[in-house]
Amino acid sequence: MRKLAIASMVLSALVVGCSEEKTPQTDKAVALVADKAIDTSNKATNLETNPFFQEYETPFGIPPFDKITDAHYAPAFDRSIAEAKAEILAVANSPAEPTFENTIVALEYSAKLLTKVANVFFNLTSAHTNDNLKALAKDIGPRLSGLNDDLNLNPALFKRVEAIHNKIDSLELNTEQKKLLVDRYREFIRGGAGLNEDDKNTLRELNAKISKLGIEFGDNVLAETNSFELVVDNKEDLAGLPQHLIDAAAETGTKRGKEGKWVFTTHRPSKTPFLIYSENRDLREKMWKGYTHRGDNNNTNDNKKIVAEIAAIRAQKAQLLGYKTHAHFVLEGNTAKNPENVYGLLDKVWPAGLAQAKQELADMQALVDKEGGNYKVEGWDWRHLAEKIRKARYDLDEEQTKPYFSLEDTLKGVFYTVNKLYGMTFKERTDLPVYHDDVRVFEVYYKNGELIGLYLTDHYVRESKRGGAWMNAYRSQYVTEEGEFVKPIIVNVLNYPRPTGDKPTLLTFGQASTLFHEFGHAAHGFLSNGVYPSQAGTSVPRDFVEFPSQVLENWMFEPEVLSKFAKHYETGEVIPQALIEKIQAASKFGQGFATTEYMAASLLDLAWHTQTETTPVDTNAFEKSILEERGLIRQIAPRYRSTYFSHIFSDGYSSGYYGYIWSEILAADAFNAFKENGIFDQATAEAFRANVLSKGGTDDPMKLYRQFRGQEPDPKHLLKSRGLATE
Ligand SMILES: [Zn+2]
Repeated sequence: MRKLAIASMVLSALVVGCSEEKTPQTDKAVALVADKAIDTSNKATNLETNPFFQEYETPFGIPPFDKITDAHYAPAFDRSIAEAKAEILAVANSPAEPTFENTIVALEYSAKLLTKVANVFFNLTSAHTNDNLKALAKDIGPRLSGLNDDLNLNPALFKRVEAIHNKIDSLELNTEQKKLLVDRYREFIRGGAGLNEDDKNTLRELNAKISKLGIEFGDNVLAETNSFELVVDNKEDLAGLPQHLIDAAAETGTKRGKEGKWVFTTHRPSKTPFLIYSENRDLREKMWKGYTHRGDNNNTNDNKKIVAEIAAIRAQKAQLLGYKTHAHFVLEGNTAKNPENVYGLLDKVWPAGLAQAKQELADMQALVDKEGGNYKVEGWDWRHLAEKIRKARYDLDEEQTKPYFSLEDTLKGVFYTVNKLYGMTFKERTDLPVYHDDVRVFEVYYKNGELIGLYLTDHYVRESKRGGAWMNAYRSQYVTEEGEFVKPIIVNVLNYPRPTGDKPTLLTFGQASTLFHEFGHAAHGFLSNGVYPSQAGTSVPRDFVEFPSQVLENWMFEPEVLSKFAKHYETGEVIPQALIEKIQAASKFGQGFATTEYMAASLLDLAWHTQTETTPVDTNAFEKSILEERGLIRQIAPRYRSTYFSHIFSDGYSSGYYGYIWSEILAADAFNAFKENGIFDQATAEAFRANVLSKGGTDDPMKLYRQFRGQEPDPKHLLKSRGLATE
């Protein structure tokens, strides 16, 4: 996560994307955009009116969204990148003897203006983008990477850092300072500072190519996702679909100029329920293929070549830097340390998951045979049949639970939980500037009554937003050079359906738990108590970052919590105990499939990035061979196939997709501590806050974990929680 070493402050623009389609940024390694001298002389008028060039005169310093226009970004980036560059050079060329303060700390606090601009820009390019921002992002990505290279490839600067690093033990640094120094030094080595001039140039070229290809990849996925539509003009073909989905499809039809028809898309809120409920097998097949062939249609948005090229270039880059493979390069800084450890873990979980999935398939085939279906179960049947079996076995229909999970009440459930755990309280503000009418703003207070930050929510799906769910910061916690404690401004962005008519947004159980998950990230940001910007909040390794969010999901399953917020949206009736029990029993259903599709994607990720081949391979053949080798059944597609695996080809999660299950092992084990002591036990909550949430990236994550738990995490809690092991 310390990708952009610059001005670690820019890091606060990094997003914590979650199990869904995810977000932008990072990995934007790239070329120095030809040192173009930036002429700001003709921007005088802009200087006076551009909100980025002034102190935000808003409550809590929330960005003045009502005053920021698209035209403000380009000049703001021009100036802030130039400033950052000058600051870096000033440190590098300082005549003073290198010290921790005048070098490491000075870098840490550089690029303030750039951070200010980037925080708004990158939030909006994911949550509320448009053609202007998209075009600018293509220009800015490489320039930021160029700046990053300016930093990491500056020999004078490296010499200073190296000199300080050489005497690390005599400097009397505290833990977080020591970590800051070690990380910064390692960043230089990893950025190519140890290379000769020729190799440095090669590295710049490779970085530039990766960045450019990554952006193309992401654009192609978006185009493919948006362009596919399944048009239904015959009412009979809607059989089985819930009314809200039909209504939404009719609305999409109208919006897309197909009045009177129903249009379904590969966006998750449309695709997933369609596959579950549609009784039309042919249409399910169309939808499933539409989804799983994104980027693999041999058209202008095809990603096969790009995938292979990115993997090959990454292998080349890793070798240039002295690493065996790209995965070795990436994992060095992770909790897992190397791909061998990751495989060690996946190998423990994969067989149990696959065996369970095969059992699930056998159950489905038996059902089809019993009903005289006369067909072999395929991928497009899976969700549909699984839902039938779930219903029969647990008599639990999502439509039955949804009335108890209105978005508003679920949010109250989240607030209730973190109030009981950490004493956090929330007060809504309706008078602050926001970037879209969907956005709500809350003041956040800690148990002592102190204001600790602002919480923004942006819940509804819209075209200007990426798919998925994530947390991001408009401002991260840190302590300024003058000793001022900066309070975070954090946003949770989701893609829930809008209320229709006078009916509120009702969430599936999974969607509701995503709200808890995202607030888990937010809590990591709000309760952060670090000094240095690059170590605050969620600035932790990829395979640790999902841990606090996954922990929080657990509370939603607790009857004590459900009874507080899960109320029928019409009658106000609390969710019946019998229904809670059904939900709990059903929660382990389908884990063979869920584990397998997720792990198949993780294995693909690792396979692409442990390959040593530096010329592009045949993408589909490679993918097929990896999955066959593992014995994946054809009825399960990896959660992401290579051609739409944005996490690893455009979003900076390369070699890191396993991180969700790694984090989940920690989460299952950590929640067990709460189960042992009481789910709202104050001592346990305080230990979790003090050792994990407040620490951010100030120390080794596994050390922090052991300090909280008093022992190593035990994977058995994960297998148990997924129903893949009984003891
Ligand atoms: Zn997450």
